[in-house]
Amino acid sequence: MMKLKSEKPKEIKLKINGLMDNPNYEKLKCKCDTTDIEKMHPLKNCLSCYCNIALNSMPRKPFQVIVIDRKGKKEARTINEITIDRTDDGLQMVRGWYY
Ligand SMILES: [Zn+2]
Repeated sequence: MMKLKSEKPKEIKLKINGLMDNPNYEKLKCKCDTTDIEKMHPLKNCLSCYCNIALNSMPRKPFQVIVIDRKGKKEARTINEITIDRTDDGLQMVRGWYY
C-alpha cells in the first residue's frame, strides 16, 4: 500500500496584543432582566453582556483585508497580529482593536 505523505499546513495563529487575564469588567454580574420582553436580549444588554459581546467580536484567527495602494491597485493582505484597545474608564473593556 502506498503511503500518502500528509503534511499538515502549519496553522498560523493570530497574535493578539493586550490580552488580559482578569479585566475589571469580568467582576460585573449579568443584570439582564429576562422577565420583561422589553428588557430582554437582544433588545437591551446589561453592561456585563455588552462587555462580553465586545470581546467576542474580536477576531481570533488571521484574516484578510483588501488594501488599495497609491496607484489604486487592490491587494489582499493577511493580518496575523492585532492590538486590543481597551477603555480607560476602569472597566478595561475591549473598545476595539487595530492592526
Ligand atoms: Zn446581561
